[in-house]
Amino acid sequence: MAKVVVYPGSFDPVTKGHLDIIERANNVFDKVIVSVFNNPRKRPLFDMEERVKMLKQVVKEYDSVEVDCFTGLLTTYLKQKEAKVIVRGLRAVSDFESEFQMASMNKKLDADIETIFMMTSTEYAYLSSSMIKEVASFEGCVRDLVPEFIVDRLFEKLKERDHLF
Ligand code: ADP
Repeated sequence: MAKVVVYPGSFDPVTKGHLDIIERANNVFDKVIVSVFNNPRKRPLFDMEERVKMLKQVVKEYDSVEVDCFTGLLTTYLKQKEAKVIVRGLRAVSDFESEFQMASMNKKLDADIETIFMMTSTEYAYLSSSMIKEVASFEGCVRDLVPEFIVDRLFEKLKERDHLF
């Protein structure tokens, strides 16, 4: 049976740190489903359709990577996709606690599901979407940290939302 892994996240926007995890998961699994979580409690900069569109562009060269979105419980979503594995990236010790809680809760909700973690590449260890948005809002340079085409979209979006200082 093909080994499918789901990589869930906000991806607001996708960074090179995310892409690194996608590429590495793609080397290990037969199919990677990168899925944008529509979290009703968060107010993202990019709406879900935009995040999905950007991710699709980023992974277009990988035949076995699919981009999707979901809302509600991740465990329910995995069932729908007939997947049993979740992949998450770990950057620093600070990620550990919340990831541990989430993985444990998901295990409680569905004992068949495993969460695996990939350590970030050191060059992206400090990188997060929120850091990117913060730096860009002060017109700092985020080139090299997000895929090239996202730099322009990011500045356009920040301008549109009046988030540039
Ligand atoms: P969430 O809101 O679910 O944390 P994110 O888009 O911030 O969504 O992150 C999705 C996943 O990608 C998480 O597992 C996160 O730890 C991981 N991730 C984010 N940035 C990096 C990075 N620079 N290197 C490795 N993994 C990362």
